[in-house]
Amino acid sequence: MKINILTLFPEMFNGVFTDSILGRAREKGILDINILNIRDFTLDKAKKVDDTPYGGGAGMVMFCQPIFSALEKIYGLEGKSKNKKILYMSPRGKVINENILRDLAVEEEITILCGHYEGVDQRVLEYWDMEEVSIGDYVLTGGELPAMVLVDSMSRFIPDVLGTMESATEESIYSGLLEYDQYTKPFDFKGLKVPEVLKGGNHKAIKLWRLENSIRRTAKFRRDLLDKWKINKTGTEDLTKKEKNNIEKILMEL
Ligand code: SAM
Repeated sequence: MKINILTLFPEMFNGVFTDSILGRAREKGILDINILNIRDFTLDKAKKVDDTPYGGGAGMVMFCQPIFSALEKIYGLEGKSKNKKILYMSPRGKVINENILRDLAVEEEITILCGHYEGVDQRVLEYWDMEEVSIGDYVLTGGELPAMVLVDSMSRFIPDVLGTMESATEESIYSGLLEYDQYTKPFDFKGLKVPEVLKGGNHKAIKLWRLENSIRRTAKFRRDLLDKWKINKTGTEDLTKKEKNNIEKILMEL
């Protein structure tokens, strides 16, 4: 997948896009990330990219010209064709979730605009038919961190970015419940012990412990998710009648 990022601070992406899983995905050619510095496209002698807002008010607004020129470099002078996706990171946008990420992960090319100051001139968004997407109901100082969050979380749904697709879908949230508690060696650290059941090789008992642990954790921290999970109870299909009754009993107690 090709990802174009329009930003005023390209150096912010170093590290996040060069190390670890995303860095490896780039090396393998699964992700082709093209970072464009909006300031390189300004015709203003002082390299200005923002101006005061019409109608008055605090702060500055990123003006059309450099952003248009950067997008014309990507899409050509005739503008964006229908099937191209351009996203503007914005607290006014739809908050990203699993469905949005999965839909984006199948695109061949996407472009992400990172805003600053009070945001960008509305004509940029309308002419280029941009979708506004948010990472949550809070305001950051710029669109770079949100763009990194979007690219990182979306990339996990692109085949071969992670070792296996299972690793993406077995995580918290995507399975419908929060993930169970994880432990690694040693078994006893300063007297703090790993639950005994995880030590033995009884896979059925481990599966049941993890399911119960997930249910209890979700009940404690994300009641909304548990209420949704209760409708289909995904992950309980293979349980015996007795095991299912036990899960029902736990749910009644919570
Ligand atoms: N004046 C804008 C408003 O009230 O909607 C906020 C501008 S904010 C200070 C500067 C930039 O940060 C935005 O243009 C956007 O690109 C980015 N940004 C801030 N919060 C964000 C969020 N929750 N999700 C995505 N992008 C965000």
